[in-house]
Amino acid sequence: MENFNLNLRAEVSGEHQLAQALRQAEFSFVYAPLELLAANTPNKDKIIAVPNVFLADCEEETLRKLEALKAMGFERALAHTSGHIPLLQKAGMKLHGGMRLNITNSLSADFFADIGFEDIILSCELTAKRIRALSCKVPFGIVSYGRLPLMITRRCPIKDGRPCNDGSHCGGYLKDRRGEKILTLCSNTVELLNPDILTLSNRISDFDTVDFFVMRFTCEKNVKEELDRFKHGEKPKGKVTSGLYYRGVE
Ligand SMILES: [Zn+2]
Repeated sequence: MENFNLNLRAEVSGEHQLAQALRQAEFSFVYAPLELLAANTPNKDKIIAVPNVFLADCEEETLRKLEALKAMGFERALAHTSGHIPLLQKAGMKLHGGMRLNITNSLSADFFADIGFEDIILSCELTAKRIRALSCKVPFGIVSYGRLPLMITRRCPIKDGRPCNDGSHCGGYLKDRRGEKILTLCSNTVELLNPDILTLSNRISDFDTVDFFVMRFTCEKNVKEELDRFKHGEKPKGKVTSGLYYRGVE
């Protein structure tokens, strides 16, 4: 099975991934952390700026960064939570909904459409069956590739609980009880990543009502290699999972 005509988007976490993703014409949009964006970033019209998940001690700073990006010519930003919405609006950014908004049905999907979102990403806890039953006034997508977070924290467990916010992840990992490596993705927040890589590359026909598919890059060194595998319906190297899309939280 091949996936050549899909509407794909990339979510990146590092500078090299951003540069690589912007070179791939297949990605209609690229979600990128605020810290990676600058006046000389190319293809600003393709970029959706991603702020911190946690805003508790950085709301003003996040707003200032968003306003600065807007002045540089960036137009779009992601809302992780409802708390992000007024910041994005104040900065004059177009609103894009992320998976943490936990949108699980048509009513909540249309709520975000009605308050002005351009598009939304559905919750990763939905089953394929429930996704098929969902409709929305604006385009909706799902995360279809990548390591999903098992947990998100402020402080890095690899650095004995100190923050790990130098902008590059520390490359550390924990081990679970089966001895599987749980990689950490560190910035202002720390994600503990599922050791199994989610992919729907071989089952994409089950999701033909979905408008766009997000490839989430965390530890990958080669974005194009994974994109090519995905397009050819192949699985990534390593242990893979189809997430909750076939098990679900009903
Ligand atoms: Zn770390």
